[in-house]
Amino acid sequence: MSAYHPLTEREAIEIARSLRSVFPDAPDNLSCREIGDGNLNLVFHITDPASGRSVILKQALPYAKVVGESWPLTLDRARIESEALIQEGKLAPGLVPQVYAYDAELALTIMEDLSDHVIMRRGLMEGGRYPKFADDISTFLARTLFFTSDLGMNQQEKKLRVRDFINPELCKITEDLIFDDPYTVSANNNYDAAIEDEAQALRTDEQLQFEVALLREKFLTQAQALLHGDLHTGSIFITPESTKVIDPEFAYYGPAGFDIGAVIGNLLLNFASRRGWDKTEAEADDYRQYLVTTIRDIWTQFEAKFRALWDEHGVDRLASASAVYKDDYMNRLLQDTFGYAGAKMVRRIVGLAHVADIDRIEDAARREAAQRLALTIGKSLIKTGRQATSIEQLIDIALTAA
Ligand code: ADP
Ligand code: MG
Ligand code: MG
Ligand code: MG
Repeated sequence: MSAYHPLTEREAIEIARSLRSVFPDAPDNLSCREIGDGNLNLVFHITDPASGRSVILKQALPYAKVVGESWPLTLDRARIESEALIQEGKLAPGLVPQVYAYDAELALTIMEDLSDHVIMRRGLMEGGRYPKFADDISTFLARTLFFTSDLGMNQQEKKLRVRDFINPELCKITEDLIFDDPYTVSANNNYDAAIEDEAQALRTDEQLQFEVALLREKFLTQAQALLHGDLHTGSIFITPESTKVIDPEFAYYGPAGFDIGAVIGNLLLNFASRRGWDKTEAEADDYRQYLVTTIRDIWTQFEAKFRALWDEHGVDRLASASAVYKDDYMNRLLQDTFGYAGAKMVRRIVGLAHVADIDRIEDAARREAAQRLALTIGKSLIKTGRQATSIEQLIDIALTAA
């Protein structure tokens, strides 16, 4: 199309108009709104008021804007995002937006408009219930993780795919913001003065730091499966009937439990926030029960689906022949899920980027209580992860702390 520059709304409209598959008769009066949060990417929502047809253009910016500063960030992440969406769409049909086109020079992905869904983080804050979610997200996790692992795909081919998804700059963001900054004095950290005691405790807790170092090492070295890499509830569009995963720009081959832990850790962040959103303790209790039931269903269904795929499609003769190995593999995934869920929770309280579930609580005392609860649960998951044998232990940790 043309050399890289951030698109204007007028240019975005021109590009959209040329998409015959979306706008077959090239309408003249397309309207455009930039709806991104503007930190890393532009997101243009383009509609034809006459036909009601619409499309999303997502363009990577060559820098990240963070608290007034900006640092350079590779445009290659747009390639990674579009390739990951296409791959996920093949492995988990219907659970990601359809990609219509990708333009490498403009770092631009053109995709299905999902505006009839809501961002799950917002939906949870408002007390929404999503009966299809556990089934959908467990399918997404089981199929994307199994079929990109050495259990479910040609092992020589996988090495080449690992190379296609080398994503050092985005991985470094995770390595710093999740697995380093929260445990030291860093200019990147960002937390309320009221929890200074908690922040200090993170810096002196040797057992915690040891466990985080192990999680960090695994994130740095274990190319187990193609991860989404940023699977929080802000990367999930949802309705009671439908689930769509977006925004895989952090995709790379890493430890599978990182994605499962991201989903569960973000549900637990919402769990920790309930007294900020529900009117009574009884209502909060009821919603927490809904969340832990969802978490139980996600893990249970994930495990059943992953094992079924392994039984039917396993490519590794030795691994597939050993029932003990299978049980051990699934238990290691569970243990990683605990640890990464916990690490995701801690960073959202004391690290650079927070979550609206907790930050938007207006009452200062309730917000502080939610932050402390999230840290209590997060630290406990990190510390107990390597001994975990059942998802019930994670649920017990959350319910006991609440
Ligand atoms: P970023 O990587 O900058 O976080 P996202 O892919 O998460 O970008 O998109 C940012 C926001 O843009 C989303 O929260 C959502 O509101 C909107 N958006 C992104 N993709 C779509 C889509 N396919 N359909 C509708 N809205 C979208
Ligand atoms: Mg964003
Ligand atoms: Mg996003
Ligand atoms: Mg993103």
